Amino acid sequence: MVEGVKGIIFLGPPGAGKGTQAKKMANFLNYSFISTGDILREEVLKQTELGNLAKSYMEKGKLVPDEIMLRIIEKNLQDSKTGFILDGFPRTLPQAKGLDDILKKNNLVIEKVFYLNSSEKEIVKRLSSRRVCPECKKVYNLITDPPEKDEECDLCNVKLIKRADDEEDVIKTRLEVYKKDTEPLLKYYREKIIEIEGDASPEDVFEKIKSFLKEDDYYKKKN
Ligand code: ADP
Ligand code: ZN
Repeated sequence: MVEGVKGIIFLGPPGAGKGTQAKKMANFLNYSFISTGDILREEVLKQTELGNLAKSYMEKGKLVPDEIMLRIIEKNLQDSKTGFILDGFPRTLPQAKGLDDILKKNNLVIEKVFYLNSSEKEIVKRLSSRRVCPECKKVYNLITDPPEKDEECDLCNVKLIKRADDEEDVIKTRLEVYKKDTEPLLKYYREKIIEIEGDASPEDVFEKIKSFLKEDDYYKKKN
């Protein structure tokens, strides 16, 4: 791991577009992209011990225990390139505090926290129309970003699937968990938070986010 590596956190309710924006940003800055949701889903698919355990929480819309998540993050931060983007982590106060310990130990810093906000109505609409390709994991939205052929991946020609936790009753639980466990992080990170309105198009949201990087050295170097 390189010393003094910088990181950006994406916070916000499920469905606010964190994953989409975090991935774009990681490509743009050539930072490592660490999505705890993606890591867990991969483990579930491979039916590892961790995956089987995580599955029981995920399909109910509940959070995977903090100790497990912290172990996953510590391991994944080891491979950080010039910087890292965290998507879906931290999600609780103990995770945020645990992350601070890991960062200190490894001489890493969190530079910015982007808070993507979105209305509950928009969230439910987005999540229930979200579909993913089981092979390449590309994410589609049947309303705003549909595949060319009816519910088939443009790249792999296989049928898209709906994530088990995108069923309406599970969405409700995820929103409750977000309010109770994750929203307190807005206060924890208040000095680093930049709030972004997430209801706009993905392109507009990304432009907005980029506008906050203009003063930074790494942005200048690339542009
Ligand atoms: P979304 O942000 O759309 O809700 P994610 O793909 O980030 O979805 O996460 C899906 C599920 O994975 C969560 O509902 C939760 O069960 C689990 N998960 C992901 N990240 C964490 C985390 N940091 N702590 C605990 N559980 C997590
Ligand atoms: Zn595909």
